[in-house]
Amino acid sequence: MISNNSQGIKAWLQEMRWQEVQQYREKREGLALIPVGSVEQHGLHLPLGTDSMVAISLARDAAQRTESVVTPPLWFGWSPHHLALPGTITIRPEILIEFLFDVLSSLATNGFDRFVIVNGHRIANIPWIQISAEKAQRELGVRVIIFDPAYMEKEVADEIGFGEVGHADELETSHMLHIMPEFVRMDLAEDHVPPERKHYHVDPRLQKDTLCWVPSTAKELKQTAGESGGVSGRPTLATAEKGKRLHEHLVGRLIEAINELNKGRVT
Ligand SMILES: [Zn+2]
Repeated sequence: MISNNSQGIKAWLQEMRWQEVQQYREKREGLALIPVGSVEQHGLHLPLGTDSMVAISLARDAAQRTESVVTPPLWFGWSPHHLALPGTITIRPEILIEFLFDVLSSLATNGFDRFVIVNGHRIANIPWIQISAEKAQRELGVRVIIFDPAYMEKEVADEIGFGEVGHADELETSHMLHIMPEFVRMDLAEDHVPPERKHYHVDPRLQKDTLCWVPSTAKELKQTAGESGGVSGRPTLATAEKGKRLHEHLVGRLIEAINELNKGRVT
């Protein structure tokens, strides 16, 4: 995780001394990236920390190229839907909302006023991050934007030919093969394509009519997990090359968002 950018400025807040933070603040107008992820089952072949690792890698690489600061990641997210398989750790929505607010509030006390939340736990964490961001903007007078790969990879995902957003799928596995291949066991990857759903589609790329939210029951989740091994999609099609293309696209988009935020207007 230790990494400096080309100018020798550290990207990770936890590796800096307070005077370095002060110097950064004086030079860089107080923008910070905050990676948020999850610790949840990711099939037979990916590690539990996949979503956090994605958020960490995106935030680190964008921060290095823009000389920005990244806070320590929030490893835990909202994942009750994965508790059927061991190792998953979920936190309640109100905890995520308040935890993130306290991080924003602490940094705001010392002059940080612009934040990019990088959410690696695609879609699922968004409502709670949004509540926290709204509260921070209202009470702390800061700007907060949310960067979620599921919404920022739509164009490149279509170009590469990734299927519908799933879980531990071709897209996520490709991404991990690029950023942290040492944690991927392709020899254990198994495809599992769930039957098509009629009224509920979480993928923002799909044009179909959809209900906003249909949370599964614990019984349904246990059954699905048992049948699928925790996978929804085709991880066997994953390659590091596809992951590299995806990653570079996402980092590029994140840099664009950082630059806009630094100019004071996000359009
Ligand atoms: Zn994931």
